[in-house]
Amino acid sequence: MRRILVAGNWKMHGSHQMVRDLLEGLKAGSTDGREVDMAVFPPFPYLGLARELLQGTTIDWGAQNLNPVAQGAHTGEVSAGMLLDFGCRYVLVGHSERRTLYGESDSDVADRFDSALAAGLVPVLCVGETLDERENGQTEAVVERQLDAVLQRSGVAAFDRAIVAYEPVWAIGTGKTATPEQAQAVHAFIRDKFASQDDIIAGQLRILYGGSVNGSNAADLFAREDIDGGLVGGASLKVEDFLAIRNAV
Ligand code: PEP
Repeated sequence: MRRILVAGNWKMHGSHQMVRDLLEGLKAGSTDGREVDMAVFPPFPYLGLARELLQGTTIDWGAQNLNPVAQGAHTGEVSAGMLLDFGCRYVLVGHSERRTLYGESDSDVADRFDSALAAGLVPVLCVGETLDERENGQTEAVVERQLDAVLQRSGVAAFDRAIVAYEPVWAIGTGKTATPEQAQAVHAFIRDKFASQDDIIAGQLRILYGGSVNGSNAADLFAREDIDGGLVGGASLKVEDFLAIRNAV
C-alpha cells in the first residue's frame, strides 16, 4: 500500500559534470518499471540542471532546506516558492546537520515544514536521536519532541502530504547502520504516535530510514513493516551504489 521511496541527499557535493553523470546514470538504470519511487536532493545551484535532466522521467527532485519566509531581505536564503519554480517536489526539513551545525531549533523546523506545505511542496521531516540520547534511553522522547513541534504547528492532517525520515544521528555518515530491529522499533513508535491522532494518516504515512544505508543492508531494512524506504547520503553519490539500494526493493 505504501510505495517504497529511495531518496538521495547529496549534501554539499556536486559539480556540473558530476550532476550530469550521476543523473544520466540513474536514468539509464531505472527504466525497468520496478515498483519504487526515487528522488534526489542536489545542492541549490544544481536544481535547474536536475530539472533539465529529470523532467519527464520517473525520478523526482527536491531541495535540502528552505527559508520559511516567502521573500525579502534574507541574504543567502531560498524560499519555498523558488524551489517550486525549479520543479521541486520535495524538500528536506530538520536534517540533523541543519539542527546541529546551523542551530535550527524544533520551532525553526516547524516553520520550515509549514511553509513548504503551504507552498505545495512535500516536506520530508527528519528526526532522530544522538548516541548520548540513545544510551540514556531518550530515543522515543527526543523523536516525540521533534514530531510534536511540527504536529502542534501544522496538525496531523498535514502529514497526508508529508514524509517522515527517522535518522539516528549516530548512524549518519558513520558507516554504523541501525539494525533493522532498532530501526523498525522507532518506526513503529512513530507510526503509533500518528495513529493515536489519526489512523488513516498513520497508515499511509511514509517513514524512511536514514543512516548509512547501502546496497547490502537496504533489503533487510526495507523488508520491515514500518520502513518505507531510505534517505541515503554517501551511497547516493555513485550511480552503482544508489541503484543497488533501489534494486534491493
Ligand atoms: C543523510 O545524510 O541523511 C544520511 C543518512 O547520510 P548517510 O547515508 O551517509 O549516513
